[in-house]
Amino acid sequence: MPKMTKAAVFVEPNRIVLDDKPISDVGPLDALIRLATTTICGTDIHILKGEYPAERGLTIGHEPVGSIEKSARRTGVFRWQRVIAGAICPSEYSSAPLHA
Ligand SMILES: [Zn+2]
Repeated sequence: MPKMTKAAVFVEPNRIVLDDKPISDVGPLDALIRLATTTICGTDIHILKGEYPAERGLTIGHEPVGSIEKSARRTGVFRWQRVIAGAICPSEYSSAPLHA
């Protein structure tokens, strides 16, 4: 059974809940961040209001800060390095940008 963590999860418009989600494996371009905090941005508000298309189960809070828990060699970051995950990522690293 995978390790689990708590996450803010979109259920339907006007309903975001705190729920358990599995911690994903780290792929060749991935890093796992131990979160210190995350922000709420305009996109999250639009998702909550149902103004931005989102699938049930989407994890909300895509602008976190924290430290690297685990990373692939190709990421260029190392364990315990403090990082911020910017909302705008180069397309090489993000196949599904959240900001249109
Ligand atoms: Zn954002």
